[in-house]
Amino acid sequence: MRFSKLRLNGFKSFVDPTELVIADGLTGVVGPNGCGKSNLLEALRWVMGENRAKSMRGSGMEDVIFAGASSRPARNFAEVSLQIDNSERLAPAGFNDLDTLEIIRRITRDAGSAYKTNGKDVRARDVQMLFADASTGAHSPALVRQGQISELINARPKARRRILEEAAGISGLYQRRHEAELK
Ligand code: ATP
Ligand code: MG
Repeated sequence: MRFSKLRLNGFKSFVDPTELVIADGLTGVVGPNGCGKSNLLEALRWVMGENRAKSMRGSGMEDVIFAGASSRPARNFAEVSLQIDNSERLAPAGFNDLDTLEIIRRITRDAGSAYKTNGKDVRARDVQMLFADASTGAHSPALVRQGQISELINARPKARRRILEEAAGISGLYQRRHEAELK
């Protein structure tokens, strides 16, 4: 699965609809401090199902919604869409019927998050599992946050093991076993 496009609308500093085409090969994002580079990575993690406000550098999940600026009022919703090139049909079963897989997450003030894949309403868990199985999830070690390298060096063995499990793509299995045990 290859990410091909990220679209943001009302997400953090990206108040106006913004589209980032992710071409083949390496993509670099450069710009002055505070221009929104980390916000882009957070949008990627968020659309894949991130539910920890802390890793979005906020105190609550609604902090991802554009909070307003001197010349612009705050927004009431934020939406991020991620397009995945699925022409090689590598997406997990249930998401694998089209050449492009599009995942949309939208959050509205006081109404929480809603997800769609290819236009169909799905649960947060469906999206999280989709990426956990592809080992590219919101907590995937493929996404390295600012400051995360030093966190890794200082991590306890248990936390380090969790990172290896994410990389191996088996954390989705643990989640399913945990849910089965609760039933
Ligand atoms: P650096 O080079 O310092 O790492 P950066 O390019 O990674 O900077 P970001 O951290 O992505 O920058 O962007 C920070 C900007 O996003 C700040 O100006 C902050 O005010 C703005 N911002 C964050 N959340 C929101 C929000 N909810 N509404 C409006 N603006 C926001
Ligand atoms: Mg940054």
